[in-house]
Amino acid sequence: MIYLGPAGMPLDAKSTQDGMAILKEEGLNAMEVQFTYGVKTKPETAEDIGRLARKNGIKLSAHAPYYINLNSLDKQTVKKSKMWIYRTAELCDIMDAEIIAFHPGFYHGLEKKVVERNIIRQLRIMLRKIEKESWDVLLGLEVTGKKSAWGTIEDIVDVCKKLDGTIPVVDFAHHHARLGGALKKRTDFEYLFSKYEELGNDMMHCHLSCIKYGDRGEIEHLDLGEGEPDYKPGIPVFKQKKYDIVLIFETAARDKDALLMKKMLGI
Ligand SMILES: [Zn+2]
Repeated sequence: MIYLGPAGMPLDAKSTQDGMAILKEEGLNAMEVQFTYGVKTKPETAEDIGRLARKNGIKLSAHAPYYINLNSLDKQTVKKSKMWIYRTAELCDIMDAEIIAFHPGFYHGLEKKVVERNIIRQLRIMLRKIEKESWDVLLGLEVTGKKSAWGTIEDIVDVCKKLDGTIPVVDFAHHHARLGGALKKRTDFEYLFSKYEELGNDMMHCHLSCIKYGDRGEIEHLDLGEGEPDYKPGIPVFKQKKYDIVLIFETAARDKDALLMKKMLGI
């Protein structure tokens, strides 16, 4: 089954209650709760969000803060990054959100092997904590759009193979941007899926948008249809999959883009 929904509340929502009802009315069934600029939500609020999501049949995930960097040269930043992820994990457990999406870290001029070792070390610490606290959530390592950030699909799949409790978050626009326009033909989409399928997971969590990019990769996200990639060649690939796929739209048009894609998929 393909689930679709916005990152954050739908555009016309005035409250969480309102937002969930709008999603249901629109025929959407997923939402990524945004903690991108801080994890300030209270546990009681998370409980409400979870209850409303269940009532309206909305599958939840969450995005941890943008400033997370597990490979920072500043030890304090690494420590704080883990704290932000723990706070998000606790809220996810309360809300019944399955995945925490986050951007693992930047290169800072270090060799890939070193960066990976640092990131894996921090992930292991976090996975132990998540297990100890019995938080029912997966760490979602997002494919990143900037070349200065660690996180190609290949590297992320390799790390996820080593660590139970982690899962890639496949950001199609980021993949497209960091490789200077990778998604053009059906086979380009098939490659991304085949990489992901090496893990044998029964679900796939994705971010979809168009994107502006340059020599260094991602510049900014754009609404669907307002630039590259063109998702049309990928449509048959999305449709033929037997496992669950969650498509989250982190664009200004949010739920409107989710609806546009729903129409393109013919579902
Ligand atoms: Zn992200």
